[in-house]
Amino acid sequence: MEKFRREIPNHFDLPTPLSRLGELAYNLWWVWNADDQRIFGMLDPILWETTNHNPVELLRKVDRARLDRAAQNPRYVERYQRALQHFDRHMQRTDTWSDVDCEPLSKDWVAYFSFEFGLHESVPVYAGGLGVLSGDHLKEASELGMNLVGVGFIYNQGYFDQHITEDGWQETRNHFLDFHNMPIISIVDENGQPVKISVTLQDREVWARVWSIQIGRIPLFLLDTNVEENNLADRQLSARLYSNDPEARVSQEILLGIGGVRMLRKLGYDPKAWHMNEGHSAFMVLERMRELIEAGKSFEEAGEIVRKSSVFTTHTPVPAGNDQFPVWLVDKYFYQYWPKLGLDRDQFVNLAKQAQPWGETFSMPVLALRFSRYSNGVSKLHGEVSREMWNFLWPEKKVDEVPITSITNGVQNGTFLARRMRELFNKHLGADWYEHLDDPALWDGVDQIPDEELWEVRRHLKRKLMMFANRRIRRQWLAGQIHPVQAIAGGALLEPYSLTIGFARRFATYKRGYLIFRDMERLLRIINNAERPVQIVFAGKAHPADEPGKLIIQQVYRAVKDAKTGGRLIFMENYDMNVARYLVQGVDIWLNTPRRPNEASGTSGMKAAINGALNFSILDGWWAEGYNGMNGWAIGDGKTYTDHNLQDDADAESLYSTLENEIVPMYYSGRVGDNLSSEWIKRVKSSIKTCSWQFSMKRMLKEYANWSYRPILEEED
Ligand SMILES: *Cc1c(COP(=O)(O)O)cnc(C)c1O
Repeated sequence: MEKFRREIPNHFDLPTPLSRLGELAYNLWWVWNADDQRIFGMLDPILWETTNHNPVELLRKVDRARLDRAAQNPRYVERYQRALQHFDRHMQRTDTWSDVDCEPLSKDWVAYFSFEFGLHESVPVYAGGLGVLSGDHLKEASELGMNLVGVGFIYNQGYFDQHITEDGWQETRNHFLDFHNMPIISIVDENGQPVKISVTLQDREVWARVWSIQIGRIPLFLLDTNVEENNLADRQLSARLYSNDPEARVSQEILLGIGGVRMLRKLGYDPKAWHMNEGHSAFMVLERMRELIEAGKSFEEAGEIVRKSSVFTTHTPVPAGNDQFPVWLVDKYFYQYWPKLGLDRDQFVNLAKQAQPWGETFSMPVLALRFSRYSNGVSKLHGEVSREMWNFLWPEKKVDEVPITSITNGVQNGTFLARRMRELFNKHLGADWYEHLDDPALWDGVDQIPDEELWEVRRHLKRKLMMFANRRIRRQWLAGQIHPVQAIAGGALLEPYSLTIGFARRFATYKRGYLIFRDMERLLRIINNAERPVQIVFAGKAHPADEPGKLIIQQVYRAVKDAKTGGRLIFMENYDMNVARYLVQGVDIWLNTPRRPNEASGTSGMKAAINGALNFSILDGWWAEGYNGMNGWAIGDGKTYTDHNLQDDADAESLYSTLENEIVPMYYSGRVGDNLSSEWIKRVKSSIKTCSWQFSMKRMLKEYANWSYRPILEEED
């Protein structure tokens, strides 16, 4: 079926016994297999860290002498061979969940479109949660043996690196990704020429070539407009994520939606189900209708066929946050397109019209909702909010009849679970626990884990986090890049025995990074208690155009630098998937303070929970359904105030008093030195038991498969 070739560079100089290392480097399967992944780091641990865990770059730069030594080291070779066995089995197995329990998915293809994919820190083409979710979706599709193909952009300038100035201001640094040093594969035709597609933007053709990243069994195809056919501005179109310029934005979305369909056709794919992850890719439905109309269908018939085969996931609970374009922009970019659908201008605009206080817009979620058979929000609460928000599209229906359901997000356990935790589970939950991790009964086995063993791993993970912070800050200090106080702000005074809280996420205003500073004196009393000290690690980026977000970072950073905090507040720069893993694995408490109900789901807390950190969060998004009274703590009681100030007061009060009266005393109760608190461990176990399966990507993806993909694939043609 494939009408293309993958041009995998053969630029490694590998000893014969290790010749397949290059193949492993070009398939991101290793990302969610932490134990097998060690075959890269073992070659050169320092290079592994300085390349941000990038096997392609590592294999290109590592000393040949080190490779030769590894090839002669029986222990290394054994590990290498075991990893290959695991890899081959994963790639070739014919007894996956799809083969056995969901056959249509092992036959027909599902196309999955997303604006960003967060696969690993060495492929920095994601901004945050949406991307990480898309990346996890592909990894788990590979685990479940689904025929799924991903469509997105390769942003050749990636997302920015964050640096914080001494005054707490976020500086952004862009750099060009070096595709030669990344697991990125050029897609070429039978003549060896790059495969290209084009779309019309206003009155010009804009071209994009196709790259690919292989994620286990799953191919991800990525568009790139940096080709010589394009003018200079168009060559930059796919350079960065989330432009604030509406023209750039509509152009990107035309490329993703319309260009993405053309790309799949060109490559020879004929997906039966089409999944839009968020509204960015909703133009896809227009292109599929255009194809059908060109083949002789009426507009109505085409619309019905497209609707029957489309799936839409919305992620945005705030009306203003939804992707929409002013109508004049639609005029400018679609005047040549609507005739191809047999529509006039008004009919076209009506497909996605939304009335806003500032005028009419062309709304991407409206387009997606109109032409999807299955639409969902990403948590139960978000489902409710979405049904209310979009009720106007179905004026004859009551709110609870609005056809938007919910599938609560999950995280891909292999990607985020610490290797040592996985070993602990291997030992106590049975050898094949990972295959069945979405089975709640399996997790009863957590009770069998001796408290001391679990505590030992938790302590180890906290020490790892501290050493990681130290190494980073030392490197910056050595490089003369920071002021002394920034070394303290970066974690030089972290200590391994204190209760450690993590707060890491995008600094969007609704996440209220400032909430914990509402009463500074009270916070200082909590953290500086000599007998029961508390340290808090902050991390996160603000969108470069989000001035209020950057001001919150500054507020946090100024507090962090203040000598009165005793070095117990820390800000770790440049939050990415690597920092995220250290944090979710290493902290005791994961704090989240969104303004309810703005957190559609949130996923970082799930990553913390599966590693045995306890969540302490507003009852919003996933935590509103995850919290059971025993597996962590709630901030507030789910009450929503219309006055933001009152809400902040109430939530801050709840935050402080729960910390003072419950969390801190429990953590330190019965402890001498660093002995364990059995009450604490009880909660840790409860959290692991309840969250590991419920908020797993496996559970999530099976729900998408059974509820949204399968009915489409089983439809008679
Ligand atoms: C998981 C993750 C996120 C999403 O976290 P939220 O809980 O949605 O705030 C963002 N960025 C990175 C790097 C992540 O790993």
